[in-house]
Amino acid sequence: MRIRVLGSAAGGGFPQWNCNCRNCRSLRAGTFSGKSRSQAQVAISNDDRTWFLLNTSPDLRAQIEATLALHPRNVGRDSPIGGVLLTSGDVDQIAGLLSLRELQPFRVYCTPSIRRILQEDNSVFRMLNRVSDQVSWTEIACDESFPLLTVAGNDSGIGCTVFSLGTHYPAYVSRERTVDLKAEEALLGAMLDSSSGGRFAYMPAVPAVDDSLLQRLEDADLVFFDGTFWSDDELIRVQGGGSTAREMGHIPISGAEGSLCELAGLRRPRKVFVHVNNTNPMLDESGPEYREVRTAGWEIAEDGWSLDL
Ligand SMILES: [Zn+2]
Repeated sequence: MRIRVLGSAAGGGFPQWNCNCRNCRSLRAGTFSGKSRSQAQVAISNDDRTWFLLNTSPDLRAQIEATLALHPRNVGRDSPIGGVLLTSGDVDQIAGLLSLRELQPFRVYCTPSIRRILQEDNSVFRMLNRVSDQVSWTEIACDESFPLLTVAGNDSGIGCTVFSLGTHYPAYVSRERTVDLKAEEALLGAMLDSSSGGRFAYMPAVPAVDDSLLQRLEDADLVFFDGTFWSDDELIRVQGGGSTAREMGHIPISGAEGSLCELAGLRRPRKVFVHVNNTNPMLDESGPEYREVRTAGWEIAEDGWSLDL
């Protein structure tokens, strides 16, 4: 399985258009020891012919254009993108679907609750089903394996199992609507199995870590894990108010109950932080937080990465 990182930042990207934090300011000034990043987007393929997107970022159009493997190959309308797996209904993860509205057939895999939010509550997504052979929706259930299929319906060689990571729906979903939805379908982690036996865990948003999640991660060869915030009060300190990382559904990296400590015992997988917010001090490669993460054996995903599993 080939894994392409098209984007590695959290919502807003790095720099973020309306942010003048130390990181964003210094990146714009050309004095930052680190890299700019577009919003989190990963693409996977087992054969380099059919590609699957893990979520669809608001930066998707530019990310596809920047990636040769995702360009059309045949004359006329064509795309090697066979499908999209959605791990939540967050705007960061679904907005790119609107950039795929040009009457191209592909599959969307999501939970029934996420499908209802998109198809029943937000009429703009009807643009994905204007003609009969456009987007094909496949409802998925937690802890049931399924193959990612090509547009023609053939097994791509990638198997997938999703599992629940959280119960909170995005802020745009009303409280009344949430009552109709299944809480466990709000936020997923995904385990992707390649035909070579390699196992890739993708989870750009993780509210908390428990023993069952640790066991799943120990069964993976490669883990892409929530790297949104360094500390729980990071946004409050930068903005002078707002929510904590945990209130926003992201376990912070640092601290006694942060992900660095919680996942320190993992032995098998290669560990990569993804979905990194522009305020996160570990983006500064000259700083102590970057050194701490690297010393602990973690990597920080960068746009343009290609990994084979
Ligand atoms: Zn910033």
